[in-house]
Amino acid sequence: MAKRELNGDPEEIKAAIADLQGKVAAKNAASEESYEEETYDEEAYEEEENAPTVEIAVKNFEDRINDTVRLGNVGDLINEAEEELEEQQRYEEEIEAEERRQRREMRRRSRMESLKKERAAEEAAEPAPRKIKRNKKNKPDDDIIIEMEGVSKSYVKGVPALNDVNLKIKKGEFVFIVGDSGSGKSTLIRLLLRELKPTTGSIWVNGYQVEKLRRGKVPKLRRSMGVVFQDFRLLKDRNVYENVAFAQRIIQVPIREMKRNVPNILATVGLAGKYKARPDELSGGEQQRVALARALVNRPPILLADEPTGNLDPKNTIEIMNLLDTINKNGTTVLVVTHNDKIVNDMQKRVITIKNGVIVSDEEMGGYLDED
Ligand code: ADP
Ligand code: MG
Repeated sequence: MAKRELNGDPEEIKAAIADLQGKVAAKNAASEESYEEETYDEEAYEEEENAPTVEIAVKNFEDRINDTVRLGNVGDLINEAEEELEEQQRYEEEIEAEERRQRREMRRRSRMESLKKERAAEEAAEPAPRKIKRNKKNKPDDDIIIEMEGVSKSYVKGVPALNDVNLKIKKGEFVFIVGDSGSGKSTLIRLLLRELKPTTGSIWVNGYQVEKLRRGKVPKLRRSMGVVFQDFRLLKDRNVYENVAFAQRIIQVPIREMKRNVPNILATVGLAGKYKARPDELSGGEQQRVALARALVNRPPILLADEPTGNLDPKNTIEIMNLLDTINKNGTTVLVVTHNDKIVNDMQKRVITIKNGVIVSDEEMGGYLDED
């Protein structure tokens, strides 16, 4: 038989081995006794094993296979061939997995694309918020985000809770609204939110003319404003995460975005570690932080806070006020109704003072007006 090289093709090796195993087996069957002896001859076995491989290499293929069988290496050859096959299989599986991954990615991308198109179409279909309408001598001012013009509100005829209020607040301002209990501060906030309509006068918020807005457009107006109150108004039977996520669910933010937004805003208000807690497991200061996170998670341009520290101790009051300041410095217009004269004097912001429904002072970097 001519000398052949094992060229590494697993199929060829397997076939050759199978063929020759048959032949070897036949040979061995013919001289079974001597084969047994030979195999268990320790000395000969070791001699063969230590023989230089060069010697083996020059033998013809049949001899080589015989040696391999005798030296107990046939398993190695078969294992090698099988390993090669397995590797090939693994490689093919990897390629298939990669192809599947790419097909998934393409499907995801095309879904995102069509979602984007849908949104763009929706936005194009929605009329832009009505521009502030003015007569010619009173041009609209683009950097004004809140404006009241001659606003009065009477709950009972002839008894105004607010009386001829005029004010302008610029984008990015921080404004305190102060005044005695019953002076009309909450009424002002409720007018901005269109919880009430003014008896007379006009109100503009973020480009919407509030008192003229049709009922169906009110939710859009309200999305311009996050609101917090003295009594927090959290959902008692929901944890922190759910209380904040709730605001996102209302405006149907996709789950994937929500899962990013909620932890982000909780981190901003310093509550990242408490997302599982329920309101009754939190301090007042922490509850107000949750309320702030809920007010801000939808990124409104305006934050309204009606006595946000009214139920808090001095330490928490300062912390919440500092947080409001940070939120403002990040670009949100902030309106804070408060009784806290010390805070107002310390923070050096614009201060609008209301007395019996009338603005009696409006000062940049102001202080709390003493009532005496
Ligand atoms: P503040 O928030 O400054 O304490 P409010 O705006 O709550 O003041 O109240 C201003 C005035 O309007 C008060 O005299 C109050 O009694 C009255 N008022 C507030 N809400 C109502 C209402 N829903 N019905 C009747 N009167 C109200
Ligand atoms: Mg009030």
